[in-house]
Amino acid sequence: MITAHIGLGANLGNAEATLRSAAAALRALPRSRLTGLSSLYRSAPIGPAGQGDYLNAVACLETPLPPHELLLALQDIEDRHGRLRLERWGPRTLDLDLLLYGNDHISTVRLTVPHPEMTHRNFVVIPLLEISPAACLPDGAPLAGLEIAGDRQGLAILRSGPAWGD
Ligand code: ATP
Ligand code: MG
Ligand code: MG
Repeated sequence: MITAHIGLGANLGNAEATLRSAAAALRALPRSRLTGLSSLYRSAPIGPAGQGDYLNAVACLETPLPPHELLLALQDIEDRHGRLRLERWGPRTLDLDLLLYGNDHISTVRLTVPHPEMTHRNFVVIPLLEISPAACLPDGAPLAGLEIAGDRQGLAILRSGPAWGD
């Protein structure tokens, strides 16, 4: 079993309902166990202007799925939530990114892990640290030591708690 961290994002339609449904889909992945789900965050959009705010969360999954199979499973969940692949960084109903896969470095045409942008994104690093405070990059550098881990600019907790209950 490997510990994988997955970033969830949505900014079209009912983004909160989409992320709840995506979390349920992660929970249902074969032979895998969802061991952590961060609070639900609201973040200012990156990429093309004129998009609505994003909702974000990070999930922690114990899984035997090899990385490319996991990526396919994540893309299947995106597709089932009406993901259309239009412009890069454009609005989307659901984005599931593989952030960390154990301590692996992966560099293929389809998959780069750690996710190349994660250390620049507070909406990824801060929720990840909420569920895995000791998380490190494959080189051993603790995520908690990144400057962005202390930068909450543009980021707000919309629902706290693991199950997003009220
Ligand atoms: P960003 O990667 O900057 O967050 P994005 O999530 O909007 O942008 P997508 O359109 O979701 O980008 O994905 C484009 C491609 O990125 C996918 O087809 C996938 O093959 C590739 N990819 C590479 N590394 C990863 C990863 N770690 N997680 C998810 N997709 C990845
Ligand atoms: Mg993304
Ligand atoms: Mg993506």
